[in-house]
Amino acid sequence: MVPSADRLKLHLLTPLWTAGASSGRMDRVHETGIIGSLRWWYEATLRALGRDVCDPTSDDPRERCPRDNQHYCDVCQLFGATGHRRCFRLEMEDGDPLFRELRIPLPSGRLHPKRRNPVGAWYLQGESRTGDLTLGIVPLGPVDAADKLRIPLTLIHRHAALGAKVSSGYGVVRITEENGDLLAVDSSLVERLAGSGRMGQPSGDLPDLRDFFFAKLRFQAPSEDPNWWQKIQGIAETFNGQVTDQGETRRVFKNPQEHNEATNTLVIVVQQQGVVPLAPAVRNWLRYTWFPSRFQPGTALGSLEGYLFGQTRPNHNIASKINVSHAYRLDSGEWEFRIWGWIPCTTPAGLSLNRDSFLQDLKGLLSGPKTDWTPVFGPGSALRPGIPEWHPLDRNNRDGATYLNELLGLTAGAGAS
Ligand SMILES: [Zn+2]
Repeated sequence: MVPSADRLKLHLLTPLWTAGASSGRMDRVHETGIIGSLRWWYEATLRALGRDVCDPTSDDPRERCPRDNQHYCDVCQLFGATGHRRCFRLEMEDGDPLFRELRIPLPSGRLHPKRRNPVGAWYLQGESRTGDLTLGIVPLGPVDAADKLRIPLTLIHRHAALGAKVSSGYGVVRITEENGDLLAVDSSLVERLAGSGRMGQPSGDLPDLRDFFFAKLRFQAPSEDPNWWQKIQGIAETFNGQVTDQGETRRVFKNPQEHNEATNTLVIVVQQQGVVPLAPAVRNWLRYTWFPSRFQPGTALGSLEGYLFGQTRPNHNIASKINVSHAYRLDSGEWEFRIWGWIPCTTPAGLSLNRDSFLQDLKGLLSGPKTDWTPVFGPGSALRPGIPEWHPLDRNNRDGATYLNELLGLTAGAGAS
């Protein structure tokens, strides 16, 4: 019998990015980027269940599958490794580009006079994809691939994001079954996967779901101010068309026409696509205002800040462990965005981080009645998001299966805490 594809529907809530053939471009949705994302979450999940998972990125071949006696770990069984083919194929539709221009700058507010383009900015990528796509999972072997892939897909759908650039806003997706039901996982699957895995402590070197926290924030747009989103940091500078930093002012755009096109496009993205690109503003606020404020003035935070928020270095890039999504409009008309991250219990030598107090402070910031949100929403804004979901796991709790069940929505009362 020819195996038939399992079909899921993806509704992109924030644009999807999968890197293309040339750097900084995206010619189409690349399945490899989707598979990489699913594999990463599946590895983190199985480690949290105490399963033995290899390190496919290791330079040491003994850390990669196949290991002793041609043994493949559960992740490689599903996703493939040298000498063992992947047990499924993805068939993915392409979606529509977000807009026609290549990209729109969202200025950081900082000027770098020595650079060719001195206006520091993040970019909203026009080639990122939006809309509704069908994802087909075609089984290629005896492993129940479509069932197992529902675990990373459900984690992504409920709490995180799919593809690349997820630390800066992209890839939030609502996933439904073909019949329209929201994607869900059968609880017996978690029991089966948990098996007899023994629960050690997360190592800190490799992602382990028990080291993750997940938050959702939600707010109502002020009805008296339809242009509220144009005051958000980054977006405001795009509308102003100029940035002033330390007494110096520079134009963001080459000419008024370019400026006009960018602001007109942003209006369409917000009003028609239901996306407000606020991730850079939130990241900026957490990284440069909140994080240093937790320490004595003058404390050198360079390496700890880079470890958590990411760093680009000539031979050594550190991916951001803290991710923030853009805001997306819910059916209720409210706006929502996500903050989630990997805050390891065990940090590398030389970096000291009290994980539990870090998460407690972060929750206090995000939920505090006195928190000043104007660095994100702009001067004079009274916007204050609520935090309907907050999921952490205490460092002394090693029970990955219970946490996974909570995250997958399989336990009663999962959600707010
Ligand atoms: Zn493996």
